[in-house]
This record gives sequence, C-alpha cells and structure tokens, in this order.
Amino acid sequence: MLSATLPSLSAGFVLPGDPSWDHARSGFNLTLDQHPAAVALPADARDVAAAVNYARAAGWRVAPQATGHNQGPLGDLEGTLLLNVSGLQEVRVDPGARRVRVGAGVKWERVVGRLNAYGLAGLHGSSPDVGIAGYSLGGGIGWLSRKYGMQANAVTAFELVLADGRLVRTDPDHHPDLFWALRGGGGNFGVVTAIEFEVKPVDQLYAGALFFEAERSGDMLDAWTALLPHLPEELMSWASIIHFPPIPDVPEFARGRSLAVIMAAHLGSEAEGRDLLAPLRALGPVRDTFAMVPPIVLSDLAMDPLDPLPFQLSHGLVDALPVDAMVAASETLTLVQFRHMGGALARETPGAGARATLPGEICAMALGVVMDEESGRAVRGALHAFDAALRPHRAGDYPNFVEEPSDASGFFAPGVWQRLREVKGRFDPTDLFAGNHHIPPA
Ligand SMILES: Cc1cc2nc3c(=O)[nH]c(=O)nc-3n(C[C@H](O)[C@H](O)[C@H](O)COP(=O)(O)OP(=O)(O)OC[C@H]3O[C@@H](n4cnc5c(N)ncnc54)[C@H](O)[C@@H]3O)c2cc1C
Repeated sequence: MLSATLPSLSAGFVLPGDPSWDHARSGFNLTLDQHPAAVALPADARDVAAAVNYARAAGWRVAPQATGHNQGPLGDLEGTLLLNVSGLQEVRVDPGARRVRVGAGVKWERVVGRLNAYGLAGLHGSSPDVGIAGYSLGGGIGWLSRKYGMQANAVTAFELVLADGRLVRTDPDHHPDLFWALRGGGGNFGVVTAIEFEVKPVDQLYAGALFFEAERSGDMLDAWTALLPHLPEELMSWASIIHFPPIPDVPEFARGRSLAVIMAAHLGSEAEGRDLLAPLRALGPVRDTFAMVPPIVLSDLAMDPLDPLPFQLSHGLVDALPVDAMVAASETLTLVQFRHMGGALARETPGAGARATLPGEICAMALGVVMDEESGRAVRGALHAFDAALRPHRAGDYPNFVEEPSDASGFFAPGVWQRLREVKGRFDPTDLFAGNHHIPPA
C-alpha cells in the first residue's frame, strides 16, 4: 500500500523486503543494524524535497545520512525515513576564489586530488571516506586545524530542504541564524543538499610518520606530551598506538604489526619541521616517512580503514594524558590515538558557527574491533578503563566522535544550546529531523 503512494524519485525508495534493503540500510559500523521504515535515495534536491514531504505526510521522521560514519547516535529508527544523500555528487572547484561547492553525498576523496592539482587543501580529517556534509555539520578536526580551525567554520553556504519542503540557501546574509546553527548543530535542521566552503593555499608541507616498536609506546607518549607546549599552530601532530591488521590496505611494512606512531603535518619548511620534531626522532624510529609532500598525502596519512568494520569507540577532550593507563588500554584496543588540539581550535573567530571552538589540549580516541562476543567483552572492558583514566582530565566532548545516543546539551555552552533549540523550534517545530545528536525544539 505504501509503495503505491511513494513519490517517484529518480533513484527511488527502498522498502523492507526489497532485494537491496540490507545494502540500502547499511552503515560504516557493522555492529549497528539500522532498521528505518524506508530508505530514500534521492538524485537531486527536488527528490530530497519530495521525500521530506512524503515522510511528513506519512507521520515519519527523517534522518539524513551520507556515509553512515556516525550512525550510532541516531538510535532506534522506527517510524523514520533514512534519507541517504549519497546520490548528490556535484563537485565544483573555483581555484581563483579558493571555493568549493559539493553535493551533500560527496566524500573528501572526490575533492582532495582536484584541490591538490591547484595547490589547495581542504580542512579534511583522517579518512578520505568520510562525507563532507556530516563532517562539516558536526565540526571537523583535521591536519590543518590548529592553524585554520574546524571545517564547520570554513563553510560559506549550505543549501537545504526544510521541514516544510522548501529548498533554501543559508549564508551570512540569508537565514543567518540557521547558517550559524548548521555549523556545529548537525543534521537537526533539514536535509543539506549542497555545501560551499573555503579551502587553503598549500602547495607543499612537511608531513609523514615516525614508527616505533609498540614496546616504545610509553617513551613515545611521554616525549610527545612534553613537546606539545613548544609546538607552533602550523604543526599538527597525532600520536597513536595501532595494531595493524594483516590486510592489503595496510602498507606492507606495517601489515600485522603493532606499532607506536607519530604522524604530523607542518605548514612550513623541512628544516623547521625537522627541528620541531627532533626530540621525537631522537627516540630512534624504525621507520621515518617525513618529507616535503603535496597536500594530497594528508588524505590517507592516518591509514584509516576504508571499508565498513565492526567496532566500538570512545573518546574525550582532555587537558593531560595518563600515559601508563593509555598504554595499558592499547594492549586490547586496535587503535588509541591522541591529537594535539589548541591553536585555532581554541580561538573563536568573528562570524563562527555554533561549534566555534573545542576545549582541551588533546583529543583522545580509542577504537576496538569487535569480531565476536568475547572480543566485544574485552573491548568494552578496555574502553571502560580508557574512559575512567581520562575522567579526571576531561575538558569536554567532540560530538563527531560520540558514537551513541547522548544528551547533546552537554556538548554546548548553555547559551549556545538555548539558541540552537530556538533555531530548531523556528525551522523544525515538530522535530521532523532526527540529527546525529538530537536538539529538541524550544
Ligand atoms: C573512520 C573514521 C574517521 C574519522 N575521522 C575524523 C577526523 O579525522 N576528524 C573529524 O572531525 N571527524 C572524523 N570522523 C568523524 C566524522 O566526522 C563523523 O562520523 C561525521 O559525522 C561523518 O559524517 P558522514 O556524513 O560521513 O557520516 P553520516 O553518518 O552519513 O552522517 C553523520 C550525521 O551527519 C548528519 N548529516 C549527514 N549528511 C547530512 C545531510 N545531507 N543533511 C543533514 N544532515 C546530514 C546527520 O545528522 C548524520 O546522522 C571519523 C569517523 C570515522 C568513522
């Protein structure tokens, strides 16, 4: 009965029982099983509006999604239309103006190479597989963030379909409150169909990784944390302990090995970069890949997994690192990673969005792959120990790294939260849109 009244989207609706149902409802984290009422696969903004109008009339909610990299916070999708925007694949680069316009389904991998050819770089993060929309709506911390801040604040315009089905453009001159809310408030206000953003001139930079045997993890983290106060904001470094799986996606020398790794990107010369990183190099890495490189190298410097996998994740923004506890947790977890924060991430710029800054000196993140019940128990235990050790040092949360349904009021200062709720009340009073971290209408 439903299908008879469904709008005719170019790419269609997928309903339970359809042969492509399992594929259409799948996301990036294979431990999570999304069960929406239906999945819409629009091909353009008109399709998006038709799907939103249909869902509203049917009494469903609408959950926008691009890649499913942050599906956990959505929780139960009963009575919800999963609106998958991955068909919106427009990409336009204006190198002279240093501006990019992309459809809401575009992943960073489609943009970094084109920008690189013009000596430009976007403020992407660790994985080329992440969608620009979800990343930008929640904040976006990447290799250039200590110098240039979060991607959310590099956005110059969004186009989106509102709860009443209207397609609008938001920028500093059009619906400025909505433009403010979208830059940090996530998918709570409508379905974004296109994003425009600024990119930065980066021809070459000093970047790479120092790899150490995992037994040196404690020494590496001690040296790294001691060095942080002396690093300029042109240098972004991440320290990780990684158990690399023995799969072809992993560079050959690291395949199947456990390694402690410093990765960094320095917007400056090789001589400066070498000087700044000298205390870490003095520890004697087993491999050193640093060199002057074009910005495209940042796209997979972190060697993130590109294919969906079953995992549990935890994180915290902290002011200090309990090194011994982190090394202990790393024995069970596939990845523990620490990103140097501060610089432009801690500085509010005029005209910034709702996610203007992030607190903390370090963004700590841990991920455990869950293959069965036993590994699930072990990962839960290690994540629990990781969280407990970080608790005394916690400065806040980074919502894009929060993987379960949460009370989002804790992610914002009280005045920002109140304003977000008022904007939500004005543009989505019936709470049609289920964003990755729920903001209820005022
Ligand atoms: C492997 C991996 C690496 C990561 N690396 C980084 C990193 O380096 N830096 C960083 O900051 N974050 C990183 N993240 C977190 C990432 O920023 C979030 O998971 C982000 O939400 C992903 O966006 P997405 O569109 O790919 O995912 P999705 O799950 O598709 O989207 C996440 C949410 O964004 C909203 N959304 C997406 N598209 C739309 C739309 N068109 N309209 C309205 N709302 C929309 C929805 O609320 C949706 O629930 C990483 C995550 C993973 C899994």
